[in-house]
Amino acid sequence: KNAIEVRRVRKVFGTGEAQVAALDTVSVSIRENEFFTLLGPSGCGKTTLLRLIAGFDFPSAGEILLHGHDIAPLPPFKRPVNTVFQSYALFPHMTVADNIGFGLEMLGKPKAEIKARVGEMLKLVKMEALSGRRTSQISGGQQQRVALARALAPQPKVLLLDEPLSALDYKLRKEMQIELKRLQNETGITFIFVTHDQEEALTMSDRIAVMSAGKILQVGSPHDIYDRPAERFVADFIGETNFLKGTVVSKKSGVATVKIASDAMVAAGFPDSFEPSGEVTVVVRPEHADLIADAAKGTVAGTLSNVVYFGTDTHYHVKLDGGDDFIVRHQNSRSSAVAFEPGAKVGIVFEDGGARILRD
Ligand code: ADP
Ligand code: MG
Repeated sequence: KNAIEVRRVRKVFGTGEAQVAALDTVSVSIRENEFFTLLGPSGCGKTTLLRLIAGFDFPSAGEILLHGHDIAPLPPFKRPVNTVFQSYALFPHMTVADNIGFGLEMLGKPKAEIKARVGEMLKLVKMEALSGRRTSQISGGQQQRVALARALAPQPKVLLLDEPLSALDYKLRKEMQIELKRLQNETGITFIFVTHDQEEALTMSDRIAVMSAGKILQVGSPHDIYDRPAERFVADFIGETNFLKGTVVSKKSGVATVKIASDAMVAAGFPDSFEPSGEVTVVVRPEHADLIADAAKGTVAGTLSNVVYFGTDTHYHVKLDGGDDFIVRHQNSRSSAVAFEPGAKVGIVFEDGGARILRD
């Protein structure tokens, strides 16, 4: 079942020449209980979409459904939706407990119920010991927990999180990533999480929508998005990728044969409901390829130009015979030996399914 359905939503700011389409006809469905992430660079429209769902602003066109009902007539405070902002927006002069209970007070809940619920929330975010502190006297990570508890206290159906971890340092951010996953699991609330950090999106999400310039380019599981990027922007934004230009020469049951520079033939998969033909771009992740000593036996051949050791893995930079640059990432083990030296003639073999044709 869907918690939220966004249907052909546009949002335009300004008028005339100064007009900006912050959202350019976006459609997406977010399932109940899902940890769903909007991923994209600054300015792509992530916050705008959250604000429309929360009701802080209205779409220029299109509609948003919550559990199948159009929420347009509902003001923000009547929507079963709550938001955690990047800045936390806590009340500094109030205690941790009073901050958490604030939303419930506003809803006019009975004192006893508020007290019980605040107690539960303090426990959920492990802040019982600091319940009487003012929020100006606790750390950034603790403030983050209080902001989460305050947003969860009224038991929203959907929690919107707008880059909630970006103000935290690296170690704390890693801790809070695990904490957020736990909170989502324990409460069963649908989370719509916004980030511009691809690694954060890959590690935390059930599904990801990749956004660019007001559009959603691809929606899928982290595995889908990483291993089967449909467009150049997605492949480029998430992880490191090799791009090869080529021409489709034949097609059979979901796999195309593509001739690339130096006349090498590459077997490549492609997105559903897409018929590749003519000139195409093929992507290969660096870890979906490996080096062999016999250049003639590889999918493609080239000359090793550089070897970079990273501890966990080694990156081999290869100048392909056709002129393209290509990176192979080899995962190291204790017994890994440096088998290739710069200048060596090498072959590159692609893992089965490792090469994919992009839609654009
Ligand atoms: P993100 O959260 O992905 O960084 P935003 O949703 O904040 O992106 O912004 C998307 C685009 O809409 C940007 O070009 C931004 O400048 C523009 N925009 C956002 N809010 C307003 C506003 N209130 N008035 C005019 N332009 C806006
Ligand atoms: Mg934003």
